[in-house]
Amino acid sequence: MMNEHRPRKRFGQNFLHHPQVIQQIIAAIAPREEDFIVEIGPGQGALTQPLLAQAKRLVAIEFDRDLVQYLNTQNWGELTIYQADVLKFDFAELNQPVLRIVGNLPYNISTPLLFHVLQYAEMVQDMVFMLQKEVVDRIVAKPNCADYGRLSVMLQYHCHAEKLFDVSPAAFNPPPKVDSSIVHLIPHTEPPVKVNNKALFEKLVAQAFTQRRKTLRNNLKPLLSAEQIEQIGINPQARAETLSLEKFAALSNLLVDEQA
Ligand code: SAM
Repeated sequence: MMNEHRPRKRFGQNFLHHPQVIQQIIAAIAPREEDFIVEIGPGQGALTQPLLAQAKRLVAIEFDRDLVQYLNTQNWGELTIYQADVLKFDFAELNQPVLRIVGNLPYNISTPLLFHVLQYAEMVQDMVFMLQKEVVDRIVAKPNCADYGRLSVMLQYHCHAEKLFDVSPAAFNPPPKVDSSIVHLIPHTEPPVKVNNKALFEKLVAQAFTQRRKTLRNNLKPLLSAEQIEQIGINPQARAETLSLEKFAALSNLLVDEQA
């Protein structure tokens, strides 16, 4: 254990210290010897060390130089550390056909981080992440739920998403002010719905949810007319939170290239 490191708030540092919770997370990841695992934010190695006890090698991405220095002095196995901002990290450069990505993520950047890793979904076998409980609830939410939004639609377009279990703040040092949950994300091998242009789909979904209380007709005004929405059997007076993934795909397929 590293004693002198003071957890840094700006890096979202809340270190896991509860052995049972750590064990539960490792069991959820179920590392196999041959896996190519990438850990985001290894911190002081709470997950890194037990992961390396089961997987032959591990790649870790850590922003905090002091922690990188500390991790480099450990002899836990074949550990390669990139001192980098994960939001700028190019996972394709690892040159591996199949990655498993895991981590107790820095909560302050969780949404951009999720969108960043989704870009690499094609080379990812699965992801096991600890996130703020509220964020996991949004990821797995179904239509007509208060939690259903842009994050649910975009994550579910790319992955099968399953919430595994909750983790209390007491498992961390310092304890975060929020509850946490573990989510398992498995990228679809075939897209669940037909989307002609991913950039337009992303744009449409973001636009549809700009103001949750407003109707599709209002939110989508810059992109589609009420007549166009109606033409594919969707009520323009409905709210985005009522639409399935299929409906979002159908709406986005009405858009044309210059709208990207
Ligand atoms: N895995 C450790 C654990 O469970 O105890 C630490 C988890 S802590 C919640 C998040 C970790 O992500 C910290 O080590 C932090 O320094 C690192 N981190 C924060 N922002 C980062 C970024 N942009 N890129 C890479 N790592 C980052």
